Amino acid sequence: MKTIIIKDKKFTELFSEQELKDIVTACAQKIKRTINETENLVLIGVLNGGIPFMNDIAFSLPENITIDYVRAVSYGDNTYSSGKVELLLDTQLDLRGKDVLIVDDIIDTGRTAKFLKDHFISKGAGSVRLCCLFYKKGTLVEEPEYFGSYIGDDFIVGYGLDYAQKGRNLKNILKLSD
Ligand code: 5GP
Ligand code: MG
Repeated sequence: MKTIIIKDKKFTELFSEQELKDIVTACAQKIKRTINETENLVLIGVLNGGIPFMNDIAFSLPENITIDYVRAVSYGDNTYSSGKVELLLDTQLDLRGKDVLIVDDIIDTGRTAKFLKDHFISKGAGSVRLCCLFYKKGTLVEEPEYFGSYIGDDFIVGYGLDYAQKGRNLKNILKLSD
């Protein structure tokens, strides 16, 4: 079993690099299959964790999409949610009438996703859908339109996901072990 230490905590592998690639590819193909080519699709990635996933999703879609990012935080340097969402960086795009697809690493409580959905709707978006790589319980939002894999209540790192700003560049997914 592959184990690494980040700061003060031990993590063991949950998905290998190949398993992760397969999850991402399946999710990207579902988006590609179901989006309408005539849509005014705007992908909005959530910094920082959503970057690798956004890249892989965007490269698999047609060239007429628009890409931008927002920055939202709810975890700080902890392994649990602080309970409130802060928008540190907003998009400057005119979203009126656009079809927004939020691309994020993971949904835990669903607070970030709900906050961003409401935010983009208030900016006039015609539709707002959600794509996340991992989905924990999402109590505050319905199941995302697109997601890579359901996971249990583990705290995970890798492929964009950090623990205290470390572990984002891991090519596999590891979970906190005791
Ligand atoms: P939510 O608002 O759904 O509770 O939390 C969403 C955000 O919290 C995610 O976008 C991610 O940044 C962070 N988060 C939630 N679960 C995890 C996890 O297991 N590991 C890491 N590294 N971040 C997480
Ligand atoms: Mg995030």
